[in-house]
Amino acid sequence: MKSGNSKKLAKAAAARQTLSKLYGLIATPPSAVLHHTPISSMCNIHMPQTLADKIAKLVCEKFSELTSGNPTLAKRKVLAGIVMTNENDLEDMKVISVATGTKCINGEHLSLQGQCINDCHAEIMARRCLLHFLYSQLDKLVQRKVNGQFSTVFEELENQKGYRIQPQYKFHLYINTAPCGDARIFAPHEEEADRTDRHPNRQSRGLLRTKIESGEGTIPIKAGADNIQTWDGVLQGERLRTMSCSDKIAKWNVVGLQGALLSHFLEPIYLESIVLGSLFSAIHMYRAVCGRIEQTVQGLPSPYRLNQPKMNQGSSTESRQPQKAPTISVNWDCG
Ligand SMILES: [Zn+2]
Repeated sequence: MKSGNSKKLAKAAAARQTLSKLYGLIATPPSAVLHHTPISSMCNIHMPQTLADKIAKLVCEKFSELTSGNPTLAKRKVLAGIVMTNENDLEDMKVISVATGTKCINGEHLSLQGQCINDCHAEIMARRCLLHFLYSQLDKLVQRKVNGQFSTVFEELENQKGYRIQPQYKFHLYINTAPCGDARIFAPHEEEADRTDRHPNRQSRGLLRTKIESGEGTIPIKAGADNIQTWDGVLQGERLRTMSCSDKIAKWNVVGLQGALLSHFLEPIYLESIVLGSLFSAIHMYRAVCGRIEQTVQGLPSPYRLNQPKMNQGSSTESRQPQKAPTISVNWDCG
C-alpha cells in the first residue's frame, strides 16, 4: 500500500512500488534525479528579452517574405534560423539562414554518394545553410587575396594556419519550439511547488535519444555494445537511428557548428544564444544542450571548450499546432 499528498501522487507512488517489485526497478529518490543539471552553472544563460525578440522576429519575417505567395512552402510546423549580430554595431543583424522541416529519410533512401540529406529537421537544416554561408565567406577570402576588395567575417590566425570568425560577430539560433529530444520531452511539465521532481519519465532525463524513422518524436538509446548501427542492418530493415536535435546541439556546443571539414581551416564557431518560440524551460534546455555533459567534458584542447549559450523565449510565443506536419523542408541562406 502507498500513500501520497494527492490521489495522483499516491497512484504514481504505488506504480513505482509495483514496478520495482515486478521488474527490480529501483525508484529514484526525487532529490537525486536532477543530477544532470547543476543549477549553479545556469546563472549566466539569461539573454536580454529585446535581443531574443529581435532574433525571433527577424527569422519569422524572413520566412514570411520568402514564402509569400506560395502557400505550399509557407506550410510548416518547425521553423528555425540563424542570425548573425555585430557587437560593434547593435543595429547590424543579418539573417544567415532559414529552414523548416520535421522529417528524416527512411533507411532505404540512404545514399553512399552523399546525395541525400538524412536529417531535415529545421534546426539541422539551418546549420547546414550556415555552412554554405561559411564556404561562401571563405571563397570571398580567397578572391580578396587575388584582387583585394571583399570584406568577410573571417580573420586570419596569427600563425597563418587558418581563420576564425572576427570576435564581434556572434551567431544565434532561433527555433519556434524546443529542439526534439531531451529539451522538448519534459518541457511542458510543471515543476512541483516543493521543487522535487516527480515527472513519470524523470529517470530518462539527459539521455541520448534518436529520432523515430518515418515518424515524429524521439526514443532513448540503449547503452551497450550491440547498439552499433550498421549499413547492412539498416538495409535489412533495422530502424535507422538519427540523433535528436537536442543531442546534436549539445554536440555543437563541444565541437562547434562548422563541421569536421571546415575544422581544418577554421577555429570552432559556437552559438552565442538559442531563442525558442515556445516550450521554453530554462532548466530542461540547459541540461539538454550542455548541462548533462559538463561533468564529463572537461579540459578540451584550446580553442575547443564546452560552450554555454545564452537562452530565452521570444515574447510572442507560438501556440501548439495540432495539425499534421507537412512533408517538405524549406531551406534558404543569405549566400
Ligand atoms: Zn528535431
